[in-house]
Formats: sequence, C-alpha cells, structure tokens
Amino acid sequence: MLRSLEIAVELTDRPSTGPFHNVHWQKRVEVSLDCFICERTGRTTSLSYGEEPGVCTGNRRTAHPAPARISGFDVTQGRDTLALRLLVDRWWAPFHDAKRDQAGTALTNWVRLYAGYYCPESQQAGTFSIQSNAIRPRNIVCTHCTEPLATEVQSPAIRLLV
Ligand SMILES: [Zn+2]
Ligand SMILES: [Zn+2]
Repeated sequence: MLRSLEIAVELTDRPSTGPFHNVHWQKRVEVSLDCFICERTGRTTSLSYGEEPGVCTGNRRTAHPAPARISGFDVTQGRDTLALRLLVDRWWAPFHDAKRDQAGTALTNWVRLYAGYYCPESQQAGTFSIQSNAIRPRNIVCTHCTEPLATEVQSPAIRLLV
C-alpha cells in the first residue's frame, strides 16, 4: 500500500549582515524506514529528488533498491528563516522483523536532511545536516570562516499523511 510522509524543518536566525553564504536545502534525505523487502525495521533509506527508486542501505552487504521517492520539495524563505516541507511516498506492506521480534510500521521517527552553502570568504562550498536525535538549539556556523549561518531550534516534524 502507498504511504506518504510529510517532513517539515525550519532554520531560524539567519543573519542579514555579514558575508552572504547562500544557505539552501539539498534535494536529498535519509529516512529510517521499516523495509518489507529485507524484512527489517529501522533501515536507513537514502532518497534524492527526481531519482527513483531510493536505496535501502540494509547492512552493507544487503543494500537494495527501495520503493520510495521524494514526491514534494517546497522551500519557504522568510525574513530570517528557511523552511523545507518534504513529501516522501513509499510502498509499504506488513511484515515481522524476526531479528528484532518487531512488527514493521509505516511511520518513521528518524530523518536526516542536508543543506549546502558557499563561503564567499574562502570561496569553498560546505554542507551541514539536520537530524532527528540531536541536541538543540544548535548554532550552525560556516566551517571555513566561522560566521554564523542559522540556528536549528526544533527537531524535524514527521507526519504520516495516509
Ligand atoms: Zn531493505
Ligand atoms: Zn564562511
């Protein structure tokens, strides 16, 4: 059955002065999914916008195509905020994870999102990631010139739509 997840995240406190770093969301996500193909719960699944299928990383030996895709990628820019709303469609079927003795579910509780930037001081690109189980608030700075880029206040919100 088809299941859709909505993932929403927001960066705040983006400086209006100082060197412009052009912080932007990258069109990829890692999400922990219960995978009915390898019959394991909590598999890290990598998805890129415009690319199907995704990849269930399983463990290293068992990585396989995953029936999931990013179906929506909406960026909203405010005065000092940068928000992202991501939709993930995936095919899911009931199964039992024999190793963890756990039933598979259609929901996820862990995601990692990526943002990129370009440092005008050092003329080098950089990336940072936002993930579910991290300490917040977190001040994100440029790894090249240490200028502040944004603050991460809340965990990404994850919602099962259907
Ligand atoms: Zn799998
Ligand atoms: Zn910089």
